[in-house]
Amino acid sequence: MHNFTPQKLYLDKKTILITGAGDGIGKQAALHYAKFGATVILLGKTVVKLESVYDEIITNGGNEPAIVPLDLKGATAKHYRDMADTINDQFGCLDGLLHNASVLGHLGPFAQISEQDWQNVFQVNVTSQFLMTQALLPSLKKAPHSSVIFTTSSVGVQGRAYWGPYSISKFATQGMMQVLADEYDNSSIRFNCINPGATKTTMRAKAFPAENADHLKTPEQIMPLYLYLMDNEKSTENGQTIDAQPK
Ligand code: NDP
Repeated sequence: MHNFTPQKLYLDKKTILITGAGDGIGKQAALHYAKFGATVILLGKTVVKLESVYDEIITNGGNEPAIVPLDLKGATAKHYRDMADTINDQFGCLDGLLHNASVLGHLGPFAQISEQDWQNVFQVNVTSQFLMTQALLPSLKKAPHSSVIFTTSSVGVQGRAYWGPYSISKFATQGMMQVLADEYDNSSIRFNCINPGATKTTMRAKAFPAENADHLKTPEQIMPLYLYLMDNEKSTENGQTIDAQPK
């Protein structure tokens, strides 16, 4: 799966929604899914970034993407239900969902975590995924086979000092994935988690401002696993947390 080389256009006629599609890992995932034939729904906070990804996909000859400008921090259940209705009307079903967007929040001692920061991180990293997944389950069920990928982190597997809300939110993400995978075992929907590992993005630079980023993998280099888990013919995993950069 880490050396997965997809067949040309293996995602033809598939519709895949990517959160945080304007930057970093989400942007590369959107470009790659589009390159292999998918129609992608680009969800994110900053519209100009989404428009730039849209333009790149069109320039590369991909299907016309849809853009969903949405700040996950303020989005309510109604926003997600409305989005699901639009997806059903426009595409009929949803074949893939990549929960990629998240925020780091402030890193620092547990004793100093503010309630505000806790709420913000949990709203974006956990509650939005719960509400969005719940709203989109009917669209995912309508596809012959569908794949939902969550995004965790090494600090979502082993807690780490000073990583407070972010670390705890990633444990919650893995819990959500496992609950869903168990509930939908032997169904047409698969749920898994990717741990990208250290990857050269804005978030990584914020978390490790002093490191030399030249030795890091780029988002593009970790794409084989993202492509593999969206292949509903080759990939049979359900309920797994998989490292994009195995040791
Ligand atoms: P980036 O910060 O580079 O990108 C995050 C994306 O999420 C951006 O497109 C951002 O949009 C979007 N986003 C953030 N907040 C919101 C919001 N409130 N509403 C909508 N969209 C939002 O992060 P990465 O690409 O590095 O991270 C992607 C995923 O991988 C995350 O879940 C992260 O936790 C995980 N990860 C990353 C690692 C790494 O080393 N990079 C390691 C382990 C895990 P905008 O640009 O508009 O703010």
